[in-house]
Amino acid sequence: MILYNSATRKKAPLTPRQEGRITMYTCGPTVYHYAHIGNLRTYIMEDVLDKFLRYEGYQVYHVMNITDVGHLASDADTGEDKMLKGAKREHKSVMEIARFYTDAFFDDCRKLNIRRPDVVQPATGMIDEYIRVISRLIDTGYAYVAGGNVYFDTSKLENYYVFSRHDEDALAVGVRDSVEADANKRNPNDFVLWFTKSKFEDQALKWDSPWGTGYPGWHIECSCISMKYCGEYLDLHCGGIDNAFPHHTNEIAQSEAYLGHPWCGCWMHVHHLNTNGDKMSKSSGEFLTLSLLEEKGYDPLAFRFFCLQSHYRKSLEFSWENLDNASQAYQKLLARIAALTPGGQADEDTVAEYKEKFIERVGNDLNTSMGITLVYDVLKSGADDATKLAVLDSYDQVLSLSLLERAAALRERQASVTSGRSGDGFVITGEGDPEIDALVLQRCQAKAAKDYELADRLRDQLKDMGVQVKDTREGAVWSRIS
Ligand code: AMP
Ligand code: ZN
Repeated sequence: MILYNSATRKKAPLTPRQEGRITMYTCGPTVYHYAHIGNLRTYIMEDVLDKFLRYEGYQVYHVMNITDVGHLASDADTGEDKMLKGAKREHKSVMEIARFYTDAFFDDCRKLNIRRPDVVQPATGMIDEYIRVISRLIDTGYAYVAGGNVYFDTSKLENYYVFSRHDEDALAVGVRDSVEADANKRNPNDFVLWFTKSKFEDQALKWDSPWGTGYPGWHIECSCISMKYCGEYLDLHCGGIDNAFPHHTNEIAQSEAYLGHPWCGCWMHVHHLNTNGDKMSKSSGEFLTLSLLEEKGYDPLAFRFFCLQSHYRKSLEFSWENLDNASQAYQKLLARIAALTPGGQADEDTVAEYKEKFIERVGNDLNTSMGITLVYDVLKSGADDATKLAVLDSYDQVLSLSLLERAAALRERQASVTSGRSGDGFVITGEGDPEIDALVLQRCQAKAAKDYELADRLRDQLKDMGVQVKDTREGAVWSRIS
């Protein structure tokens, strides 16, 4: 696979240190609130990357942390503790908050077909490791104690600004966040490795350390968790673009100072999901969750489809209209797959040919929209239905849009519609177009469930397709608008 490496600012073949095996680290969620759909965009794209590498034949070892301590309101170590803020907001303990939002995050992941990484490590479970690494950094002169806290001394490095040099957006975040000066720091970009209780008197989670009772900084968590599970060399590190600076810059600084050699081979950053041109953020309090999308009648996988249609290195503008378009395209795609006849023998040579095309095109810097285009190419091709279904099944190992399962369910519903009654007791009459029957059936179901918003949306979608629906005593009757 060819991947853009944010550290070198170049696309290059991904070359793991150990042949055939890739170690991959993902910055996990800060569990003080629900994940918003911007966070989920990042996890969807990282999931596709993980699955694409497996599809290519690599053995992938994927590690992710859960940030349940240490992440302050600003990424530059200032402001309130995010977990404490969540606990206060909900009058619960920090651990209760962490447990609740970790579960909520994995619920969202399940609905979005995001595979759980091989290792999921809560940051609070690694305190001894942070203390060990920080002690070594102090011994080797890379870290110092001041005002009760331990800081990393960025002046000791020749090359600190690995990411901030080139990413204006990320730098802007860093600069904006560092307004609150810390008099203990020797250099403005020094960052905290260990906070003592001097920071927050009501800090809920704290541990004994050689420097006093306190808690770790956010950046050291990811370095230590990654090094513990993936060893001294990491092949691939992922995160959202806002993590590039200062979080990933600091991870590199402390990991390489600790190890004494280059650490991570490739950095992959997913750009933001924006609303009205602005980054969606948890701390602003105004954000959209997957549950809200579901409440409005959207299928979580329609959101996944929406994300896959655009490239991970471009910001993605969210609007209800954009999501509607993606949702309609996804439903139409399912209806087209449902119209294929299952069974029979697939032509293995054709399947292998399409698989190769997928690897070549999606493998060019994770071009997921090209993967979706290939799905349509297969459907349009002259291959027989069994071959088409086999190719789509194969692609879905990476895209994870449940294409065949959802299409099979649709086909089943349609079978009962053709015979006059659907399994749900709806009668649909029309000239017999499976795609339209399926949409009309969905509308009947939405109305029965009193989901009038979805029913209206489906009616509009049908109208756009030149179809009108009448609700009669005998059921829904559709006809083409002449
Ligand atoms: P957090 O829970 O804030 O630690 O963030 C979890 C992940 O979501 C990180 O990889 C962030 O970089 C990423 N992220 C945060 N905001 C957005 C956004 N608006 N769009 C895409 N990814 C984001
Ligand atoms: Zn991280």
